[in-house]
Amino acid sequence: MTDVERREAAPPDRPGWDYAPAPEARDIVSLRERYGLFVGGTWLEPHETYTTISPATEEPLAEVAQATREEVTAAVDAAREAFRDGWSSLPGAERAKYLFRIARILQERAREFAVLESLNGGKPIKESRDVDLPLAAAHFFYYAGWADKLEYAFPNRRPHPLGVAGQIIPWNFPLLMLAWKIAPALAAGNTVVLKPAETTPLSALLFCDVLRQAELPPGVVNIVTGDGRTGAALVASEVDKIAFTGSTEVGKAIRRELAGRPVKLTLELGGKAANVIFDDAALDQAVEGIVNGIYFNQGHVCCAGSRLFVQESVVEEVIAKLKRRMGTLRVGDPLDKNTDVGAINSRQQLEKIRELVASGAEEGAQIYQPPCRLPERGYWFAPTVFTHVAQSYRIAQEEIFGPVLSVLTFRTPEEAVEKANNTPYGLSAGIWTEKGSRILWMAERLRAGVIWANTYNRFDPASPFGGYKESGFGREGGLHGLEPYLGFE
Ligand code: NAP
Ligand code: MG
Repeated sequence: MTDVERREAAPPDRPGWDYAPAPEARDIVSLRERYGLFVGGTWLEPHETYTTISPATEEPLAEVAQATREEVTAAVDAAREAFRDGWSSLPGAERAKYLFRIARILQERAREFAVLESLNGGKPIKESRDVDLPLAAAHFFYYAGWADKLEYAFPNRRPHPLGVAGQIIPWNFPLLMLAWKIAPALAAGNTVVLKPAETTPLSALLFCDVLRQAELPPGVVNIVTGDGRTGAALVASEVDKIAFTGSTEVGKAIRRELAGRPVKLTLELGGKAANVIFDDAALDQAVEGIVNGIYFNQGHVCCAGSRLFVQESVVEEVIAKLKRRMGTLRVGDPLDKNTDVGAINSRQQLEKIRELVASGAEEGAQIYQPPCRLPERGYWFAPTVFTHVAQSYRIAQEEIFGPVLSVLTFRTPEEAVEKANNTPYGLSAGIWTEKGSRILWMAERLRAGVIWANTYNRFDPASPFGGYKESGFGREGGLHGLEPYLGFE
């Protein structure tokens, strides 16, 4: 039998590639047994702690602080003092030097951070190494460049820093979200109190060591770990600005809490993006975009392309290609360099995914999962696609935040727009077609803050990111991302 014949004889969804284990060495990360709160440039001994684990193995990694209201207040006081005590009046070019230093140190220590991020969060090392870390460093580089140019960025508006920024971030991109928050805040001359997510505090705690290396003045950045109560305490404290990324539900609660208080607010909330495939699209390329759109980072992505709209004439072809491609996804050890889909971030998130997937099957959608063996310990969910989905199903309406795709169909561009916009969210969308005019026609009509054409999940620090409707307000990235950290005369 020739090679070609043999390949054709192989079953279509099991291409038969075997990969030897290729684990990234863990010993580059040295964890402490216990972490305090990083306040005023020193570590405070916490009153209360909890254990943070690896979601891939459920192995305990370290004890971290559950910051109380008093401890959060101490962090805000330290940030206030650092703001008054020089940071806000430091020339922009001096602030820039610190940001450049942080960016360079992140690059130098990229492997260490990437391993830690995968260990504590469950994401494949390939992604933390090639996406999270380079983008986090790029964000600091980018905003370092603006620090001494604020007058030019906002001509005739006399920009000034706001004061203390309280920042609350989620667990899906722990270090990258930290960079999105801290870099523009410092460039604008504010000081910061940041609360990482309960399940992924370790990269933010390691980042404190970067701050020490960069000799950032004490109190300019303070890190308080803990669960939602710590976040609520930060919102209730005497801050001048709150920047929040997370669920729509908590975002709404924060907005209610801040109503009537002179605190600037930006909310980056959930999404239920439409990824729209027209029949003239390069279908193999589109299938890569679909896979990247929903299985990247286990689907724990606010802008994930979780609703796939395929033009009716090509739906069978696209689904067949997609299923075949799904069969090649490697699910498993996040530290293995060949892994495509890692662990679900927490038991709670796994339960949420299971519940929504069960509702999809119950409501009448057809489920497909490629054959794959999931590890016994830890939190895992196989890549999943639902066909025969109606717009009213929960899996087409609610954010699943997992590796689960819902496929719907359309006939005309008008129908695609109407269905794509039929969601309370409006964060992102994708368009796949050969026609430039159709891309522009669609982009004008889709109610989404970010729209990708013939690609998906592309990020650049110079490009603003943010949503409409229940996806929140305010932009991060680019010049737009500086404005929420500034006041104007
Ligand atoms: P979340 O509760 O909104 O978490 C976001 C951040 O807010 C975390 O640091 C969280 O702490 C904190 N927080 C929780 N309650 C708070 C409160 N009352 N006041 C102030 N801060 C509070 O989201 P989640 O529990 O991590 O995930 C739930 C759902 O949110 C996900 O299934 C997904 O749909 C969505 N989500 C969206 C994004 C996004 O990027 N847009 C990111 C993550 C999650 P804890 O870590 O202790 O909860
Ligand atoms: Mg939560």
